[in-house]
Amino acid sequence: MELIFIGYPGSGKGTQAAILSEKYDIPKISTGDILREAVSRRTPLGLEAKKYMDKGELVPDEVVIGLIEDRLQQEDAQKGFILDGFPRTIAQAQELDRLLHKFKRSISAVISLEVSKKRIIDRLTKRRVCVQCGRVYNLIYDPPPEDGRCGVCGGDLIQRSDDREETVRHRMEVYEEQTRPLKEYYGAQGKLILIDGSLSIEKVRDEIQRKLNEIMNSDDSSSQ
Ligand code: AMP
Repeated sequence: MELIFIGYPGSGKGTQAAILSEKYDIPKISTGDILREAVSRRTPLGLEAKKYMDKGELVPDEVVIGLIEDRLQQEDAQKGFILDGFPRTIAQAQELDRLLHKFKRSISAVISLEVSKKRIIDRLTKRRVCVQCGRVYNLIYDPPPEDGRCGVCGGDLIQRSDDREETVRHRMEVYEEQTRPLKEYYGAQGKLILIDGSLSIEKVRDEIQRKLNEIMNSDDSSSQ
């Protein structure tokens, strides 16, 4: 299965992609995570990407496309993958189609998590992430233990530098201008699935599963 998640930053893409990754035993590939790792290792790519990320801007297409091209060719991605945060522009989507075509593969479905702007601002500005294990908390909806440390590993919890309100608002504008057009792009390919992302993590998970089952069943019956 080859899946893409799209939606505002903070719409729950990473959380739902992680659930499906475990269930289907296929990797969740997040360009944001790959870039943050490069930033923390201070590689030349990381130092370049940081300039854009701190401002809430998109890193240039050719940089992220190069990362994805390498990542999709790794062994663990051969039986499927879940993309979280890529593609984010029409140019990235076209390049992804071209790459997959070359490998004789294609996207199974694109899941768009629909969440209102107000809720996104609430979610992101109150998001805290463990520096050690990456566990994500929300001070209101999913608070960390009272001692303010990670409940999984005891690590320090921090606010991502791009989760400050001003940057969040800018990231949302960038989404509207550059990423939202992907809904039309994948809608025209008949691959778009809209999911109400404002519900609880479990309800969103179940709704996604229900839609994916429908797709898998119709694939089975059409191949019989
Ligand atoms: P995310 O964790 O997905 O919200 O990504 C954090 C930041 O990394 C974004 O605000 C961008 O600066 C950069 N980034 C992640 N994925 C992409 C992408 N596909 N294209 C361009 N920039 C990206």
